[in-house]
Amino acid sequence: MIPSPLSGPTGLFLGGRFVAGSGTIAVRSPYSGELIAEVSTGGSAEIDRAVRDAARHLPPLPAADRARILERAAHLVADRAERFAQVICAEAGKPIRQARGEVMRCVDTLTFSAAEARTLAGEMVPLGASAAGAGKIGFVVYAPIGIVGAITPFNFPLNLVAHKVAPAIAAGCPVVLKPAEKTPLSALLLAEALADAGLPAGALGVVTGDGPTVGTALVEHPDVAMISFTGSAPVGWGIRERVPRKHVALELGNSTPVIVTEDADLDTAAAKIASSGFTHAGQSCISVQRIYVQERIHDEFCAKLAGAVERLVVGDPADEATDVGPVITPESYQRVRDWIDEAVAAGAKILTGGRSRGGLLEPTVLDGITPTMNVTCREVFGPVVGVASYHAIDGAIALCNATPFGLQAAIFTRRTDAALAWARQLEFAGVIINETPTFRADQQPYGGIKESGNTREGPHYAVRSMCEQRLVILNIPEA
Ligand code: NAD
Repeated sequence: MIPSPLSGPTGLFLGGRFVAGSGTIAVRSPYSGELIAEVSTGGSAEIDRAVRDAARHLPPLPAADRARILERAAHLVADRAERFAQVICAEAGKPIRQARGEVMRCVDTLTFSAAEARTLAGEMVPLGASAAGAGKIGFVVYAPIGIVGAITPFNFPLNLVAHKVAPAIAAGCPVVLKPAEKTPLSALLLAEALADAGLPAGALGVVTGDGPTVGTALVEHPDVAMISFTGSAPVGWGIRERVPRKHVALELGNSTPVIVTEDADLDTAAAKIASSGFTHAGQSCISVQRIYVQERIHDEFCAKLAGAVERLVVGDPADEATDVGPVITPESYQRVRDWIDEAVAAGAKILTGGRSRGGLLEPTVLDGITPTMNVTCREVFGPVVGVASYHAIDGAIALCNATPFGLQAAIFTRRTDAALAWARQLEFAGVIINETPTFRADQQPYGGIKESGNTREGPHYAVRSMCEQRLVILNIPEA
């Protein structure tokens, strides 16, 4: 095993230890292309070993012990925050200030999961409310669903792992994780922190490798009760079709819209959209992608947005000043480049950006996007936002709804009363008013409808999705 220059673990995490696997994978800096680490990979044998180890943790430790482990892990991650941030920055190319933000959100996710472990309770069933139930007491308890198989994407390599592993621990489910092969180091560091916090050996296994082999072995393993997947829509829905009898929870992509009405605070809207459309170079499932602006304020808003975007600092993600770093791979770079060119060929205008700067794609604002352009109807996952003007709000809402996705959307307006009605018409699982649609607090219910998914994360919700409801009825004979 080649030690990582970032001096974190690089093995598979099996039986509570880091061990060599059957192969290795090179983790490279998305910024410089330089080799960061060689990480062990596994195959179906290692997945099987991890699942067998996991099965020994059912039934799980008592809830109070699980809560204490999660609380200790939250403290350890906070203590080691800078190391975590450096690893996220190196492997994902996420600007260092944004990487630090992800670490603090992971601490929140662990802390809220610990609270769930302490408070998860069942509920009484009012059996006496019907003649059939008279003389009986009924209650529902939450029982762990079994072994959870977790599969995660590259863009939040720490916190999205925490959003699966920590609720699973809280629910009492052993978990086998396959992190994104481009960004496995953060997940291995989290496994180390959980082990240091007292998680029993085997209750978490981490097997790195590619999706088609290692991911498939996990998905199809007969002893894995549930798959919790975050990633792209085609892969997620494909998994759901392959294992129709398993519980498959999907957190997928979006083409995130925002409406800016005539009376909105344009300075605030432009500043927030400029920042959140380009965080991690637009590689967030709720990164602003489409902006529908009332036609009378279109020119003024576009000038403010372009100005704010031009002030963003593009460069080395390790540099404290950097706002926008690289996209994850040269292939992603080329795809986003092609989509910009296609949009321009179809009539869109580049307001700012559109070129390469030191090998990085400049933050780009397109004006005049139309519904059929790739930058509109598909998920860009790159540093590009598109603007289109609208005449009446109904038309703007229809444009927002005119993609297969439904994760989050937003409205900037001073008419918050009307915004509540518009929120009901937007076909999205989350609608944010006077904040960007990129907003997420880790305790909120987060997830999508339509192509964007079928579940909600946030520890309170994820824990329940990882449990079965068991009904217990007690017959009380008449005295
Ligand atoms: P991806 O779908 O390419 O990969 C995600 C994970 O799935 C990786 O670990 C990958 O190895 C694995 N995988 C790939 N093929 C597989 C297969 N056949 N069987 C099992 N596993 C397989 O996604 P990505 O490029 O890593 O991440 C970007 C995507 O994730 C975007 O679409 C983004 O919107 C989405 N995302 C969604 C959320 C959310 O919470 N809704 C959050 C972050 C990212």
